[in-house]
Amino acid sequence: MIIFGTKGYLYQLAMLTLVCGNCGNPAAHALRKHVTKFTLFFVPLFPVSVKYSTQCTFCGAQRRLNAAEAEQLQAGAASGQGDPVQGRPQQPYQS
Ligand SMILES: [Zn+2]
Repeated sequence: MIIFGTKGYLYQLAMLTLVCGNCGNPAAHALRKHVTKFTLFFVPLFPVSVKYSTQCTFCGAQRRLNAAEAEQLQAGAASGQGDPVQGRPQQPYQS
C-alpha cells in the first residue's frame, strides 16, 4: 500500500514597507511563500505548487504575487537593509 498526499509549508521571506493597495498606508508587509509538497509515506518529496503573497500588517489585506514580483521585492528588501529610507523605491523612477 502506498500512502501519499500533500503537505503545505509557509515561509516568511521578508518584512517590507510598502504602500498598501487596500488601505493606502505605508505599512509593513509580510512577504510569504506558500509551498505545497507532494509526500510519499509522509516524506515530502518535491513541491507541486509554489505561491507568493504579501500581507499588510495594518489592515490584513493579502495580495497574490507571481514569482518574479516576489523575487524583485525580496531583492529590494535585501539591498535596503540597514538603510530603511533609501533603497526601497516606492515611486516610479523618472529620468
Ligand atoms: Zn493595508
